[in-house]
Amino acid sequence: MEYKVSIPDRDYWKRQIRCQDACPVHTDARGYVRAIAAGRFAEAYLIARGPNPFASICGRICGAPCEAACRRGDIPRIDDAGNFVGPDLPIAIRALKRFACEQAGPEARPSETVLDDVCRWIPSVCADAEEMAALLRATVSGSVPKADGQAVAIIGAGPAGLSAAHDLALMGFKPVVFESEPVPAGMLALGVPAYRLPRDLIAREVEVIRALGVEIHCGVTVGRDVSFTALRHDFAAVIIAVGAKSSRALGMPGEAGPRVYGGVDLLRAASLGESIDIGRDVVVVGGGNVAYDVARTVIRQIAYDTARTAARLPSTGTVHLVSLETLEEMPADTIEIREGDEEGIRRLNGWGPVEIVRNGAGAVTGVTFRQCVRVYDDQRRFSPVFDDAVRRTVPCDTVLLAVGQAPKLEFLATGGADVEQMRPGWPKVDPTTLATTAPGVFVAGDLAHGTRLLIDAVASGKKAARSVYHHLTGRTITAEALIAHLPLPLYHRERGYESIARLRVATIEPEERLAHPDVVVERGYDPHEAVCEASRCLDCGVLPVFDGNRCVLCGGCADVCPTQCLKLVPFSDVARDDELDALVRSAWGDDDDHAANSAILKDDERCIRCALCADRCPVDAITMERTTFAALWRCA
Ligand SMILES: Cc1cc2nc3c(=O)[nH]c(=O)nc-3n(C[C@H](O)[C@H](O)[C@H](O)COP(=O)(O)OP(=O)(O)OC[C@H]3O[C@@H](n4cnc5c(N)ncnc54)[C@H](O)[C@@H]3O)c2cc1C
Ligand code: SF4
Ligand code: SF4
Repeated sequence: MEYKVSIPDRDYWKRQIRCQDACPVHTDARGYVRAIAAGRFAEAYLIARGPNPFASICGRICGAPCEAACRRGDIPRIDDAGNFVGPDLPIAIRALKRFACEQAGPEARPSETVLDDVCRWIPSVCADAEEMAALLRATVSGSVPKADGQAVAIIGAGPAGLSAAHDLALMGFKPVVFESEPVPAGMLALGVPAYRLPRDLIAREVEVIRALGVEIHCGVTVGRDVSFTALRHDFAAVIIAVGAKSSRALGMPGEAGPRVYGGVDLLRAASLGESIDIGRDVVVVGGGNVAYDVARTVIRQIAYDTARTAARLPSTGTVHLVSLETLEEMPADTIEIREGDEEGIRRLNGWGPVEIVRNGAGAVTGVTFRQCVRVYDDQRRFSPVFDDAVRRTVPCDTVLLAVGQAPKLEFLATGGADVEQMRPGWPKVDPTTLATTAPGVFVAGDLAHGTRLLIDAVASGKKAARSVYHHLTGRTITAEALIAHLPLPLYHRERGYESIARLRVATIEPEERLAHPDVVVERGYDPHEAVCEASRCLDCGVLPVFDGNRCVLCGGCADVCPTQCLKLVPFSDVARDDELDALVRSAWGDDDDHAANSAILKDDERCIRCALCADRCPVDAITMERTTFAALWRCA
C-alpha cells in the first residue's frame, strides 16, 4: 500500500482552524471560544468584535458558517467510559459569541467604553487577517496612511453599508450614510423579527459605529429626496448597499389583488408597527429562513389578536407553511423548523403553488398546489419536477410569498446610466474590487453577491471600503498574514473534554412565545454553561509536531492515540513526488539510503489535540505547537 502525504504550507495551517477559515471576515472563533473556556470573558468579546462591527447581532442570528465547518462536528462522540456513541455535534459557536457579547459588548456597557476598549486592544494570539486592532495599529504607525477626510456617500444603512462606513471612518474618510427607512440596520431591523433579535441591541451596536464619526441620515431615499447625480457630484465616491428589498412574485393566477403580500413587506410592517390587513387563515409559500420568520411572526400576531378578543372570535386561526422541498431538503435551519413546529405552524412539504383561488367578490379562499416530485437535478441544480395530476387546495384568506427578493435600483435613472447591469436590477460588479462600470461607484452586500448571510454583507462592506481607499488615494491596502509556530511545553486539556455533549441552548415555552410576541425565544448560556460548552472546543490551532531525529520508533504514540490518526509505516510505503523528494534531501542529504527508514503519518482532520501522544513519548520527540497568524496591513 502507498500512502499519499501532503507537506503543510501556510494555507494548510489556516485550513486547520476550520471555524475561522469558514468565516467570511475570518473571526478567530477558536480564540474567543478558548478565552471563554478559560473564564476570560472580556477578552473573548474583543476577539469576536475585532473584525466584525456586528458581533453582538451575529451572536444572536448569524447563519454561523463557522459552526457548520467546526471539526468537533466531524469526530466520533464518545461517552465517559470511552465508548463510541455516534457522531458528535459542533461547538455552539454562535451561542458562545452571544454570551461573550453579553458580558462585555454594547449590551453590557456604554458605546463609548466599548469603542475605547476595542480601539485600544492589541490581541496577544490572534489568527486574524482583518481585525480592527491591526488596522488601527497600521494607521497609527503610518504603514497605512490615513486618507484626507474625503466624504464618501453610502446608500443604505444595512450591515453592508454600515460595515463599509465603519472601516472608512477608521481609514480616515468621512462616511455619510443615506437610509430611506426611519431606522438603520436594513433587514436586521426590518426583516429579522424581534423575537430573534431585540431592537435595543441593534440600536446599541449601531451607536458604536456612529461613535466613530459615521453620519447616518434616516428617512432619506436616494432617487426621491436626493438624486444619485447629486451624490456623485458632492462626494468623492459612492457605495451602493441597498440590499434586495422587494419580495419576488410568482406570476400565478390570482396573485394580483388584496391579501396577497410579499413576506418581507409583512415583516417590515410588523417591525415598524404599521398595520397590514391579515386574515385568520394564512398560507406562507416558501421553505427558507425568511418563510419561517414570516410564518412565526404571523402566528404570533394571530395568537395575540385572539387573546385580546377571545370572546368574539370563533376559532384561533391557522398558519400553513408550504414548501417545494421535502423536510430534509428544506433550506431553513433545523432550529427554525423545530421551533416553528412547536409554535403550531402546519408544515406541508413537497408542494408547488399553481393558483391563488378567489371567490366572486375577489377575496382569497385558498391556494392550489401540485405535488413536487423532485426539486434538484443530479447536479444539485434547482430544477423542480411536478406531478400535475396530484393537486390539493389549502383553504385560507391571506397568502404571503417568501420565495426570494430582488433589488430596487430606480434611482439609477438619474445619473446612473453608466452603472451597467448584468441583468435587470443587478449591477455588473468586479468581484475583486466590488467596483461597478461607473468610475467611483462601488456596491456591497446583497446587491453585490445576491441574498446571503449577514456576515457576508459585513465582509463585502469591508471589501468595498478598501477599494474606495485604493480609488481615492491611489494606494493598495493589503493584509499580509504572518505565521508563527509556538511550542507549548505545558499544554494540557480539560479532563474529559472529549466526552462532554453539546449543551442545548434553552428556549422559552411555545405558549409564552405566542403570548408575548417580541420576547426573545433563545435564553442564552449562563457563565457555567458557557465555560462547559467552550471547553468542548478542540483548539484546532494546536497540533502535535514530531521530531524525527529524536524518535526511537517505539510506536507508543500510535498506540495511545484515541482516534487512531497516527500510523508508523516504512518510508518505502510513502508515495514520492518532487516536493517530498526535495524535503527528504534537505533533511537527510542526497546520498542516504532511505529503504530502512520509517515515517509517522498523521491525519490532522481526525486529531482531537488531546496531547496524549506527546505525554506518552519517552524521548520528548513530540511537542504540541500552536500555529498563529498576525495581520500586517501594508500600503503599496
Ligand atoms: C427576513 C430576513 C431574515 C434574515 N435572517 C438572517 C439571519 O438570521 N442570519 C443571517 O445571517 N442573515 C439573515 N438574513 C440576511 C441578512 O439580513 C442580509 O444578508 C443582510 O441584511 C444584507 O445586508 P445589506 O446591507 O446588503 O442589505 P439590507 O440589510 O437589505 O440593507 C439595505 C438598506 O438599504 C436601504 N435602501 C434601499 N434603497 C434605498 C434608497 N434608494 N435610498 C436609501 N436607502 C435605501 C434599505 O432601506 C435597507 O435599509 C435575513 C434576511 C431577511 C430578509
Ligand atoms: S473545535 Fe474549536 S477550534 Fe476547532 S473548528 Fe470547532 S470551534 Fe474551531
Ligand atoms: S494529539 Fe496525538 S494522541 Fe491526541 S488525537 Fe492528536 S495525534 Fe492522537
